[in-house]
Amino acid sequence: MKTAFITGISGQDGGYLAQLLLSKGYKVIGITRNNHPTNLYNLSYLGIQEEILFEEGDLCDLPFVIRILEKHNPQEIYNLAAQSSVGLSFAQPTATIHYNISSVLNLLEAIRIVDSSIKLYQASSSEMFGKVSNLPVTLTTPMHPLSPYAISKATNYWTVINFRESYNMFVCNGILFNHESYLRSNTFFVKKVLQDSFKIKNGKLDHLRVGNIDVKRDFGFAPKYVEAMWLMLQQNDPRDFIICSGRSISLRHIIEYIFDKLSLDKNKVVIDPQLYRPTDILDIYGDNTAAQELLGWSYTLKFEEVLDQLIQEEEQNLTIARA
Ligand code: NAP
Repeated sequence: MKTAFITGISGQDGGYLAQLLLSKGYKVIGITRNNHPTNLYNLSYLGIQEEILFEEGDLCDLPFVIRILEKHNPQEIYNLAAQSSVGLSFAQPTATIHYNISSVLNLLEAIRIVDSSIKLYQASSSEMFGKVSNLPVTLTTPMHPLSPYAISKATNYWTVINFRESYNMFVCNGILFNHESYLRSNTFFVKKVLQDSFKIKNGKLDHLRVGNIDVKRDFGFAPKYVEAMWLMLQQNDPRDFIICSGRSISLRHIIEYIFDKLSLDKNKVVIDPQLYRPTDILDIYGDNTAAQELLGWSYTLKFEEVLDQLIQEEEQNLTIARA
């Protein structure tokens, strides 16, 4: 039986990845800053909370990281923990950069000190590329980060590569584009639009307030994207991969699609300039050819199909909550 650590297990990807690893017979250790049941809602929603062992602590504390590695001897670590919101990173740049950079450095150092054969997956982000002039994004696209979050993720990306090249460690970056699910936090665009749209439909909210909805992003489905994380650590050699759908759509299109499905009046969308970001990416999508060819990862979902599924799951859970 393999043992895997998942940091940030209480988040969206942590839940789906834990579910995948458990289905493959892994012993899963979840690292969280707070293992109070209220923080583990996603795991109980998926019905897997009881199957996971938890270690509570701070990844910025190197002795803690070393101690848990020595205690559990994992073969694989999936590092998903991060201050993951681009918007919040503008409000809290120091905290975001400090946490995101120190946590990754500590994990790499702890692996090097305790057992350099432990494999590490690092949750990198398409946000690192930022102001791109050529699309689709590939591994050779120059990076021009446009937020404190993106700066932290770019630093993580190069730190991982530096440890791989310097110490011959199996550590790699999954560069994931936006991916969504029912478990996405409502501080993120798609989940917020879904929740607010249902509130409007049920007479609990007047308007949907949004920022710049003419930007375009490459959106995918989280449960499919976590499969690529696992595949990356099963290869013979460590390598970085871009994980995306390969197609971008505008935020406006997403709103219109959801409003049409719920028969809502589009005049209920309010553009609020206060919600604009200081700098934003206008359009971005990636090239997932390497992941499809080398990892055998397949992704064929259109985002409208994902939205259909999310609308259905949101509605089902609202009905259950009301019953
Ligand atoms: P998420 O839902 O926000 O979960 C991240 C987890 O990190 C949280 O549940 C939290 O768990 C932990 N965490 C540790 N330190 C934190 C801090 N200072 N502030 C906030 N949370 C902190 O993120 P996700 O969507 O699952 O994404 C997983 C990883 O992939 C993240 O590193 C994210 O940046 C990256 N990523 C995500 C996407 C996407 O579209 N979802 C795209 C590209 C990259 P505890 O409270 O239990 O410690």
